[in-house]
Amino acid sequence: MSISQNIDQVLKSIPENVKLIAVSKTKPNEAIVEAYEGGYKIFGENKPQELKGKFEALAKDIEWHFIGHLQTNKVKYIAEFVHLIHAVDSMKLLKEINKQALKHSRVINCLLQFHIAQEESKFGYDLSEAEEMLNSDEFKNLEGVNIVGVMGMATFTDNHDQVRSEFKQLKTNFDVLKAEGFKDKSDFTEVSMGMSGDYQIAIEEGSTMVRVGSFIFGARNYAQK
Ligand SMILES: *Cc1c(COP(=O)(O)O)cnc(C)c1O
Repeated sequence: MSISQNIDQVLKSIPENVKLIAVSKTKPNEAIVEAYEGGYKIFGENKPQELKGKFEALAKDIEWHFIGHLQTNKVKYIAEFVHLIHAVDSMKLLKEINKQALKHSRVINCLLQFHIAQEESKFGYDLSEAEEMLNSDEFKNLEGVNIVGVMGMATFTDNHDQVRSEFKQLKTNFDVLKAEGFKDKSDFTEVSMGMSGDYQIAIEEGSTMVRVGSFIFGARNYAQK
């Protein structure tokens, strides 16, 4: 199956209101061009310099999503053009995104990453930390960032019940934030969850954005999250 056929297959299997981010990290420009020529324009990357290179080389109407852990000192590479930063996990990072956004006269849309997996290594807030951050004056002064939802990664396991309960947790966190601080904010709408192995479960649990890489582009060459 070609890349475009794989994309069509995912699109056919998800509801219309769920957005597919085609995760092209580690893949060459040609793979993205192939998907683009097939009509798809929404891609996700997780290395700032690699993303900047692809942005510069490829069509300017591509919608680029930054999906991985973002180091503060690398925000500058993507601030000019990134459509959505999926994994914001600290005030330090938010402040830098704000600074770089204002430099480019932009407001950058972001998702708050929640730690829902059992694995220690995954980044993200828990609910009380996020509430505290959102209620701080420091946060309220950030005019260059706009929080439009939440994001999380489930544990990498074959145990579907566990994956499902982690996604449920993320959706619950979203609902709590929506009911509290974001209740008058009509663009706080996104729950980014689900990858190649678990996006069907994520959609059943309320995902609005799935980030699918290897199912579309094939296995990546080196171990990378
Ligand atoms: C790599 C990656 C994906 C895509 O993973 P696949 O299993 O290849 O679909 C999704 N989300 C994040 C944050 C990633 O780093």
